[in-house]
Amino acid sequence: MNAEIIAVGSELLGSDRIDTDSLFVTDQLNALGVEVVQKTIIGDHLDRLARAINDSLSRCDMVILSGGLGPTEDDLTREAVASALGRKLVFDEATLQFLRERFARLKRVMAETNRRQAYLVEGAAKLRNSNGTAPGQWIENDGRIIILLPGPPRELEAIFIEECLPRLLERVPRQMIRTRFFRVAGMPESELDQLIAPAYKPYTNVVTTILAAAGDLQVHLRARCDTAEQAESLVEEAGARIKALLGDRIYSENGDALEVVAGGMLRARGATLAVAESFTGGLLAATLANVPGSSDYLVGGMVTYTAEQKIRLLGVDPALIEQYTVVSEPVAKAMAEGARQKTGATYALSTTGEAGPQSATPGVEPGTAWIGLATPNGAKAVPMRFTGGRNLVRQFGVQAALNLLRREL
Ligand code: ATP
Ligand code: MG
Repeated sequence: MNAEIIAVGSELLGSDRIDTDSLFVTDQLNALGVEVVQKTIIGDHLDRLARAINDSLSRCDMVILSGGLGPTEDDLTREAVASALGRKLVFDEATLQFLRERFARLKRVMAETNRRQAYLVEGAAKLRNSNGTAPGQWIENDGRIIILLPGPPRELEAIFIEECLPRLLERVPRQMIRTRFFRVAGMPESELDQLIAPAYKPYTNVVTTILAAAGDLQVHLRARCDTAEQAESLVEEAGARIKALLGDRIYSENGDALEVVAGGMLRARGATLAVAESFTGGLLAATLANVPGSSDYLVGGMVTYTAEQKIRLLGVDPALIEQYTVVSEPVAKAMAEGARQKTGATYALSTTGEAGPQSATPGVEPGTAWIGLATPNGAKAVPMRFTGGRNLVRQFGVQAALNLLRREL
């Protein structure tokens, strides 16, 4: 079974409000084996909405609408569905009674406009709203299902779980979805896809998606089959082939972020970490400190933006800077060693580079960086070449540093 979601509301088109309802509904439907194939956001406009409903109905088995069930003039979902299906709106006395009682219980006066919420599309089953006023509506039309849900997430979620799930379980053919999820560091997206495509391409029944953020790649696999066992064995098999190709570039299979994984490794070894940051400007320390309990291993660090502070706070030899510039292997190593010595931490990471858009170091292109790591057995540094804007380069730098530490551990 396929479904489409239509989010109704002009406020959802801009940056004021984000459509999160459809994310919830999609997760719920996926878990039932119903695939959400398209989402549409429509402003509060009767004709556009009615047309969108008809379009969706011509393509899929189920349409879920969120929002526009309120009492005001711009709440048009009921009218639009009625018009799209060529049905009337019928006044439901019982709903009006429910609304009156709810207002009475809350000791509020019910505005006359709330009567609008008591209209049902002819033939609709009412879906009880335990967290608000407007009931949801369940309509069946030519073998298709149309569900109307109010926009406020608390209301939509309660109605979906309490009223829609039981009905859906009766009607949805038992298709099961199983997933695998890998997080990958240390390679660009294009390289990742090139490497693993031969492993996933043969599986027409496993949907593979690669999501990329700065220095952080995610590989999602999803199989949809008649039984959970079939779906599980498909994702297991395709997943195993991908894992064999990626090896230890996979840092997490449960969704944990790189800083969580690296931090966990430090904790497991009873080791501590310090940072010496230049172009990441504190972002590395902030990322590490985002993890609850990071004080178990993160001891502190220095943000040394100028050459002078690298010398003063980290004890970097001025002659190294003179000879190699600040964006160099010897300086990255010296920064890490300096941070390790000054703090007494087991390990220290350093970042030095040009975040761009302009470069302050002669001969060093924006996006060029060295990431250093000092350990009880000496220091090393690796060169990096990032592309993207300033913030992206800084995020890449943080991921690269965390990954260097993870690989060392
Ligand atoms: P109400 O009776 O509260 O007016 P409604 O069904 O008419 O309910 P809307 O007026 O469209 O819903 O939206 C009410 C509020 O619900 C919005 O201001 C917004 O905060 C939230 N909301 C609406 N649609 C969504 C959505 N798709 N995702 C997340 N929140 C939403
Ligand atoms: Mg409204």
